[in-house]
Amino acid sequence: MDPSKLLVSFSLALYSQWFYHKPTRCLFDAGECVATALGKRVFGIRRVFLSHGHEDHISGLANLVNVRNLAAGSSDKPLHVYYPFGDPWIEALLEYIKAKQSGLLRYALYAEPIRPGDQILLDDLKRPTRVTAFETAHVPGRLCLGFEIEQEKTLLDLHIGHRMRVPVPVFFYSGDGYQAFHSPYGRVELAIHEATFLQRDVGTSARHIAQRHSTVETAIQWATREDVKCLILCHISDRYSKEELLEAARAAIHESKFRGEAYAAIRDAIIPIAYKENS
Ligand SMILES: [Zn+2]
Repeated sequence: MDPSKLLVSFSLALYSQWFYHKPTRCLFDAGECVATALGKRVFGIRRVFLSHGHEDHISGLANLVNVRNLAAGSSDKPLHVYYPFGDPWIEALLEYIKAKQSGLLRYALYAEPIRPGDQILLDDLKRPTRVTAFETAHVPGRLCLGFEIEQEKTLLDLHIGHRMRVPVPVFFYSGDGYQAFHSPYGRVELAIHEATFLQRDVGTSARHIAQRHSTVETAIQWATREDVKCLILCHISDRYSKEELLEAARAAIHESKFRGEAYAAIRDAIIPIAYKENS
């Protein structure tokens, strides 16, 4: 799998994070410069899923809404924004957008708070496809979400020898969090998991920060447990050089015997870490 065919993205912990999944026209998080980087692609976005209200995940949203309204392009398609129920910072941002765009928007903008387990049907796609929200542990006392996309595919059931239409997990996005509690039903095709730190620094970082994030090692352990087909590590701290990061990730893959493909999202690039034929 070449994930850069499916995604346009930017990811750097603290600065900005967003992933645009082209096949489903969904944007996951909306950090700074998302509209600038996507250009005309902003008109393709149908849904935005926000994981939580930290600046690096939402600060591009107001600009995205405005550019999608004023730039030359088909600006009549509605835009849905989904966010964790009760997140006060996202609600404040939505209030700003509502006030600023009052009476000016040429398309319908819907904002909907969602809870873990809520499912959103992507009814603009040919194949039945849905997004399920799940909870992650990130900000104490506040709901933070990750998201999984399931798409109906026709698979051959070897036991009964018939082709069956079954929902397959095609995409997983962890948001921020030190533990993804969610297990997709089956091997997820593409999982994007945050990996802010290396394990060696967890002891030296301020406790409250280290406890809110995954490490390269714990993210790879998770992907090994879930037998992910293609893993992308993201939200990596800029304290690490690319070489240092890739070396630690290769060691963790070797240690855990992860058998899928692995990449690291560093700024706007998605870089291969290791690839094995038998994935
Ligand atoms: Zn955060």
